[in-house]
Amino acid sequence: MKNQIKTIAFDADDTLWENEPYFREAELEFAQLFGHLPLDDVIKDLFDIEMKNLKMYGYGIKGFMLCMVEAAAKLSGDKIESSLINQLFDIGHRLLQKPIVLLDGIEETLQHLHGKYRLVMATKGDLLDQERKLEKSGLAKYFHHIEIMSDKQPRHYQKLINHLDCKPENFLMVGNSRRSDIVPVLALNAFAIEVPYHTTWIHELHEEPIEHPNFVSVTSIDQIIGLL
Ligand SMILES: [Mg+2]
Repeated sequence: MKNQIKTIAFDADDTLWENEPYFREAELEFAQLFGHLPLDDVIKDLFDIEMKNLKMYGYGIKGFMLCMVEAAAKLSGDKIESSLINQLFDIGHRLLQKPIVLLDGIEETLQHLHGKYRLVMATKGDLLDQERKLEKSGLAKYFHHIEIMSDKQPRHYQKLINHLDCKPENFLMVGNSRRSDIVPVLALNAFAIEVPYHTTWIHELHEEPIEHPNFVSVTSIDQIIGLL
C-alpha cells in the first residue's frame, strides 16, 4: 500500500462520526410505542419493511420514517391513529437533529493526511442530511470531493474512481462496514482499510473472513497514518 495511494475516500457514518446508535435508539422508541408486543418482533417487522423498501427509498432517515409508518400500520391492524403518526414523525425529526459526535482521532488523522493525499468523503444516506452533518462536523475543509452514493456496489465505486480520474491501484477506501466499504472496493482491486465500530446495522454485517492482499483492519483510525 505504501507509496501507491493517491486518493483516500472515507465513509462518513460510524467512520467519521457516530450514527448507528441513534438508529438503534430510534428503533427502541418505535418498539416502545407497541409495548404490548414482544420487542424483538416489532423491531424485526420494522427491519423487514426497511429491507423490502430499500431499493425504492434508498438509505437514510426519510426512508426510515416512511418504513416506521408502514410498520406501525401493520402492527396496528391497519387502524393507525393520527397521534401515533405524529409520534413517528417526532422520532424521525429528532434523528435529523442529532448532534454530530466525531469519533476518536478523526480530526488529527485528517489534518495529517490533508495536503499529502486527495481526500474524499464517500457515503450513503439522504443528500440533505449528509450535507448537514458534514457542515456541522467542521470536517468539510479537509475534503476535495464529497460523494453521496445511492449504494456502495463495485459499479458505484468504479464510477467514483473514474470521476476522480483515479486508478483502483491508487485508491484507498476507509470505513467501518465490510459489506459497503471493504468488499466492493477489493472487488475492483483497490485498497481498503476497515476501522470497526462497536455497533453495526444487521444489513451491513458481513461474517465471512476477508483475505485479500489489499485489505487491512485497524483498531483505531490514526493507525492508517503508519500504513501509508
Ligand atoms: Mg459507515
